[in-house]
Amino acid sequence: MAPPDTDLDAGLILGVIADDFTGATDIGSMLVRGGMRVVQTVGTPSSEMMATIDADAVIIALKIRSIAANEAIQQSLESCRVLQEYGAQHIYFKYCSTFDSTPDGNIGPVAEALADHLGAAFIPYVPSLPENGRTVFNGHMFIFDKLLNESPMRNHPLNPMTDANLVRWLDQQTKGGVDFLPLAVIEKGAAAVTAHCAALADGGQRHIIADTVRDANFAVMAEAFLECPLITGGSGLATALARLHGGTLGPNDARILTAAKGRKLILAGSASAMTLIQIDDFIAKGGPAKRLEPREIAKGTGLVKATIDWANAQSTDRPVLIYGSGAPEQVRAAQAELGRENAGKILEQALSDIAFALHDDTSQPTRQLIVAGGETSGAVVAALGVKALRIGPEIDPGVPWTEAQDEHGDSLGHLALKSGNFGAADFFTRSFDILE
Ligand code: ADP
Repeated sequence: MAPPDTDLDAGLILGVIADDFTGATDIGSMLVRGGMRVVQTVGTPSSEMMATIDADAVIIALKIRSIAANEAIQQSLESCRVLQEYGAQHIYFKYCSTFDSTPDGNIGPVAEALADHLGAAFIPYVPSLPENGRTVFNGHMFIFDKLLNESPMRNHPLNPMTDANLVRWLDQQTKGGVDFLPLAVIEKGAAAVTAHCAALADGGQRHIIADTVRDANFAVMAEAFLECPLITGGSGLATALARLHGGTLGPNDARILTAAKGRKLILAGSASAMTLIQIDDFIAKGGPAKRLEPREIAKGTGLVKATIDWANAQSTDRPVLIYGSGAPEQVRAAQAELGRENAGKILEQALSDIAFALHDDTSQPTRQLIVAGGETSGAVVAALGVKALRIGPEIDPGVPWTEAQDEHGDSLGHLALKSGNFGAADFFTRSFDILE
């Protein structure tokens, strides 16, 4: 993936630490939009691996959202040191645009530890993503027209967001004082933002939640925060930041990924509403598809092997879809019989085994793969031995094509990892057209 004569880290501008996997790919896509060449690594990379990477921005994808705070801090600091060692001049801590965390969660503690390490006077928090309906006004988050705590995020299984006041929420997570950057100040321009943040920091309010109601606000904040050693937020600010930092990706740069080849495969393990629509759309257009019911897999009657044989017998001209996703009542029935976690794991294992077998097939290897589902993506990436992803063209907001790389820097083919509810209805067909 990296050019052989890479002058390593000569161009590394931005180092990103992301608290989960598909969130890392999301910000990667936004940085590419802003003209940067971007590589995402799976966990903290070794020095040997960093030495193979040639990019304007490196994103380290961690899985620290729901683990103990001290462990999250330790992993983030380790990642930060690696990024600095390889030349990163600025650090971005990426979390979810809905500020996913608990009152004793990890956003505040990780940001505080990074700020101490980097000597940051204040910490901007810019979670918003107006293009997906996430805005912040007077320190309160809205999901489209609803306050965060009145949106479905209230019932999130791991991070129920029961307060839309992010100042109050973050205050529970941090030692230093928390305040917000009002929209009225942002509308006065970058100098006003810088002066306001410096005054807050002088008064002991080091953690600053930024209002954002429209994309134009990002341009102002990118200018104001450009030289900050640490910025934290969602993916929204990334495009404006990349533009100002000046990446080395030309407009519509066709060389961003190598030419795609090999068999096309879609594996869906997400039962989210949008993925179900995408499956129906693919089948309605005549795409070859096979469903794996977790209860059938659990019987151990060779269903996985039979599915691999079925996929191999299909024409290589068009993509093949293998999915476990089901309607809510099907999922409930499988969970009742197998247990919630076990049913999920059985399906993830089956899809990972299929991914490995079809990728490994020497006569017609799969080299263009879409995976639907965050957890499912993590399982497939582990099965294929993916250690890094070069971020390529955007398919839909937050979902780019990527080129996967193993620990030696060799290409493993093209991958699109889609969190369940992302992408338009025709995602499974249109994605492959984009690669061509
Ligand atoms: P999303 O991004 O939509 O949350 P994930 O892959 O993260 O998707 O999570 C979906 C989980 O649901 C996975 O563990 C998957 O194996 C499980 N799952 C999907 N379909 C079924 C099903 N029919 N029965 C039981 N579990 C399922």
